[in-house]
Amino acid sequence: MKRRAEELIRALWERRSLEKLEYEELLSLRDADSAALLRSLAKKARESTYRNRVFLRALIEISNVCKNDCLYCGVRASNKNVCRFSLTDEEILSSCAEGYALGLRTFVLQGGEDARFTDKRLTSLITNIKRTCPEAAVTLSLGERSRKSYTALRNAGADRYLLRHETANAAHYASLHPENMRLETRMRCLSDLKELGFQVGAGFMVGSPNQTLSHLAEDLQFIETFRPQMCGIGPFLPQHDTPFAKEPAGDTDLCLYLLSILRILDPALLLPATTALATAHENGTILGLEAGANVIMPNLSPRRAKENYVLYDGKKITGDQNAANLETLKQTLATAGYVPDFSRGDYRKEHHGTL
Ligand code: SF4
Repeated sequence: MKRRAEELIRALWERRSLEKLEYEELLSLRDADSAALLRSLAKKARESTYRNRVFLRALIEISNVCKNDCLYCGVRASNKNVCRFSLTDEEILSSCAEGYALGLRTFVLQGGEDARFTDKRLTSLITNIKRTCPEAAVTLSLGERSRKSYTALRNAGADRYLLRHETANAAHYASLHPENMRLETRMRCLSDLKELGFQVGAGFMVGSPNQTLSHLAEDLQFIETFRPQMCGIGPFLPQHDTPFAKEPAGDTDLCLYLLSILRILDPALLLPATTALATAHENGTILGLEAGANVIMPNLSPRRAKENYVLYDGKKITGDQNAANLETLKQTLATAGYVPDFSRGDYRKEHHGTL
């Protein structure tokens, strides 16, 4: 390994922080040895907080209807080739009941910005989930909404909110989104969510079109300063009906390298081994855990939702990504030395940034 890479990794371990140029340098010095050192320190950091436990969250894709037109996304409004669906309240509640019976204690309701999901409807849904699944945490991932809306959702009992920032660089953000979408709006939403007491998830794509190592360094600095409780990252994967159809997929190894950096940055961070990672590499879930991740989100959506929530091509909906295969997943985790944890799995605030 290059000596400079080792110096930077040791500095990251000691300070839980690097300057932007140092992050950029660490990314540019990536090789097998530096990845191995980062991985071993990330493992140590994760074990200090969560030991070898992996939290399982039930993912329920509630709608692929979206008013937005993000250039990378397969369910963008202008894609006419998508078979649109929007689950009924009954379908959502019965998915939660199914997950609860399986022992899962976090439900992640994810969807596009679908006007059918009004505040009134969502607050009633959240209240119902909390009543019928009393020990469960409710995580929402429903895009940008007003502060008033987030307040209503929080007051109804929602615990967490995932809203990836996608890139912390305004010019890069503009190259991935239509003109009416602004990074400052995304950041305003994230601050509102945090102020309202949600456990907040940010996150970014690795290898999205026009992305440079400098952009990734900005993402790491953003995570360091904003301090989300969760961070979802996965390789960019093209979808054939989008303007980025011909762009190359992101680099899985770079994604794993970044997972390790994030784990060292905050040993308490809830860090999923994402579906994109599992799609990009056949052993992506376990590789993600080895790199420092500690969350898996098996898909509990009804079949038509699973099949049509197609943000990118080739989405993995089988094996470890499918809640119907929990027994196999438990076995796979045990073989790799992990213990599946079905509890709510809240962020361990007392471990924030410490070892
Ligand atoms: S990324 Fe999200 S907000 Fe953008 S088009 Fe897709 S579902 Fe809508």
